[in-house]
Amino acid sequence: MNIEKYRRFSETSRDLARTYEEEGDYEKALYYSQKTASYMNTIFRVQHYEYLSRKIDTENSSGDNNYRKMFADMDRLSEICRAITANFDFEDMIRKLSLRLSEIIEADRISFYICDSNITENSYHINMENGLISKVQSPEPDCFMEIGYECISSKEGIILNDFTPSNADKGGSLIYMPLILRENTLGYFGIHCNQPGSYGEDDFLKLKLIADYISISLENSKYYHEKKYHAAHDYLTGMLNRRELISIGESEFIRLMKDEMKMSVIIIDADGFKAINDRYGHMAGDRVIVKISEVICDNIRNTDYAGRHGGEEFMIILSETGADIACGIAERIRTALEKSSITLEDGTIIKTTASFGVFEFDRETASFEEGVIKADEAMYRAKQNGKNCVYIKRGISIDLLNLFFCVLNIIFCDKYQNWIL
Ligand code: GH3
Ligand code: MG
Ligand code: MG
Repeated sequence: MNIEKYRRFSETSRDLARTYEEEGDYEKALYYSQKTASYMNTIFRVQHYEYLSRKIDTENSSGDNNYRKMFADMDRLSEICRAITANFDFEDMIRKLSLRLSEIIEADRISFYICDSNITENSYHINMENGLISKVQSPEPDCFMEIGYECISSKEGIILNDFTPSNADKGGSLIYMPLILRENTLGYFGIHCNQPGSYGEDDFLKLKLIADYISISLENSKYYHEKKYHAAHDYLTGMLNRRELISIGESEFIRLMKDEMKMSVIIIDADGFKAINDRYGHMAGDRVIVKISEVICDNIRNTDYAGRHGGEEFMIILSETGADIACGIAERIRTALEKSSITLEDGTIIKTTASFGVFEFDRETASFEEGVIKADEAMYRAKQNGKNCVYIKRGISIDLLNLFFCVLNIIFCDKYQNWIL
């Protein structure tokens, strides 16, 4: 296999992922970062076999048994390494790696130190001992970390078979490996054994190989999560984007309608937003959009899904929630927004309001999209009736009890209005 070809493929995919990311096309960026990961995986598999052949050459293993043991070992090692790169969740990968590492190497404790290029910045430490994982943000340096730092700055692995720490920490044997990828320092990875004299050259080589895979996995996971986040979130407000809202809405619709549970949707559209842009400029308009998103997020429950549906339009999906509660939430956001404002650098205060359309899904609603259209119709009704108000669209299947509550609402409640089809 031509390893150089795969290296070129992986670099091209990575460049494409970066280009799409810069252009804001996160879906394509995510696709190419996944392709990069798969090419990297192929490259490392090839390197694995190169390592194996080197080992056979150097190890003077004459008997069949030695070969058999070595191949069995390599098989396990290769399986572990494949699992490392296939997992995009770094902490989950560590947990699984720790469980499987004992198949090929003895370790009482495994530790990871992950950092930025400046080795003490944005760092965290993960320890895995007796099946328990612990994570410490910006850890205090100790004698083990001193060895880790040494290993990072020398870019070389360290093996110690008679380590006696000066403090009360347990000594024994250890191997530390730097996690480096394309000249970038990502941290280090270490294994500890309570018994002195536990590790040999063979273990050192295995760890070196595993460390390479961990570096790939770490970068993949960082990159993958970044892309995944951008593919699902709006760049300006950090809220869910339209694509993610629709995907969540569709799956919640199927789940809740199957179990005959309630579900509502709210559409929110800023009032007179074009005038804000025209008067104060697009940048100020953007700040108002961010403000609206903050007010929405501050006034919903953590079970609700809120996102930017389009330019100055937002959507909230409320699972297991009927129209009355949904209207209450819409009204809460409406009043909070009415009271809020943003202040520009020159002291100008901009205030904004929004119009709200609410719809509760019922047996007659064929799809999530249909529910959104109905909430949109209610929102337009709110626009036509003076803006800065909440309108609800009731379905055709409204029963007598609902009708009764609608009439009550219309008579006694001036907070929101019912629009009955
Ligand atoms: P209405 O009360 O009827 O909703 O009037 P409106 O002016 O809010 O609605 P209209 O649809 O006429 O205008 C919406 C404006 O929102 C037009 C568009 O340029 C602006 N817009 C859309 N997305 C953004 C954005 O991301 N940033 C800014 N600053 N403006 C945006
Ligand atoms: Mg508008
Ligand atoms: Mg609009």
